[in-house]
Amino acid sequence: MKLTDFMNKSESNFFSIEISPPFKFKSINTIFSAVERLLPYKPAFVNITYHPLKITRISVDNISGEFIQKKHVHPLGLCAAIKYKYNVDVVPHFVCAGLNKVQVENDLSDFSFLGFKNILALRGDPVAANAEFHPVDGGYQNASQLVTQINSMRNSVFVNNIDKHAKIDFCVGVAGYPEKHFEAVNLENDITNLKKKVDAGADYIITQICYDLVNFERWLEAIRKAGINIPVIPGIKPLTSLSQLLTLKNVYNIHIPKRLEEMIVRADIDNQAYQVGIEHGIELSESFIKLGFKGLHYFLMGNGKDIEEVVKAVYGFKNQDLVK
Ligand code: FAD
Repeated sequence: MKLTDFMNKSESNFFSIEISPPFKFKSINTIFSAVERLLPYKPAFVNITYHPLKITRISVDNISGEFIQKKHVHPLGLCAAIKYKYNVDVVPHFVCAGLNKVQVENDLSDFSFLGFKNILALRGDPVAANAEFHPVDGGYQNASQLVTQINSMRNSVFVNNIDKHAKIDFCVGVAGYPEKHFEAVNLENDITNLKKKVDAGADYIITQICYDLVNFERWLEAIRKAGINIPVIPGIKPLTSLSQLLTLKNVYNIHIPKRLEEMIVRADIDNQAYQVGIEHGIELSESFIKLGFKGLHYFLMGNGKDIEEVVKAVYGFKNQDLVK
């Protein structure tokens, strides 16, 4: 089902989970276990992240040429496996970095063929940290251009018109950054760019992880003022260790409120960071629900035990028999 149709129909609160494909040469069972851990709590959607190709010219076993260096498995097969094995709505993430618009169309048509009704449309990061983003030839500089292409497909306008009767109609989500995207000169400019994604045809926004409700509410007020009226789903990740805190702060540019940072640092000394992070994750989820957000989006890093504990407390058991 399209996520927007689900939101319009749903009378109760819901949540989605976001999982990354395992690395190549690992087993699909790691991701199946994570899904099985959380399915009993009835996530409305399972998002699968997308990791762009890195193409490097190398020689392997005396065969030289362009070889794809890819750490993660391609999400297409994985998304289909989860969708049809568990009969759950999967939202594939789609990153246009590294692809030209013909490849974008080709890949998106495969997702459509496999029955996906939703796409989270993203640009992706620059190749190296702190580097500038450069599109490939015929590719896109930002996600709003990708959303424009997806929107054209809804109107049967294709780049490579193989079938003139084709129509591909995805419900399109985009990323929002309550504490601004790291490349944006300021929050106002980032919101102007978010509005461009909405004007290009985005149907809803999932936000970057945000622990600071004051920042979040300020951003929400600003985007509504800027005329962005589509649904917003806050992104949540329980902060369960000091190393995670440092990664989120330094790599993802996420602001950690002083109180939370002090709590985790103190708890880390006594090996209590996990429990403190779970309690904070529950408190944060309940605060978002109190603010009126119908849906929350949980980022899974690891086996999903932390998310299980949070959703169990916030949403309760939905199907006791299925709980492992
Ligand atoms: P954009 O919306 O294009 O924004 C990138 C920068 O360009 C911003 O600074 C913005 O202000 C600016 N900009 C945007 N539009 C315009 C315009 N029209 N004109 C000028 N400037 C503009 N990454 C992955 O690799 N795989 C994933 O699966 C993935 N999932 C994610 C899920 C969520 C919920 C979030 C929040 C992020 C995710 N990311 C993922 C990270 C994302 O790819 C990076 O943050 C990336 O750097 C930006 O992607 P974007 O789609 O937000 O880009």
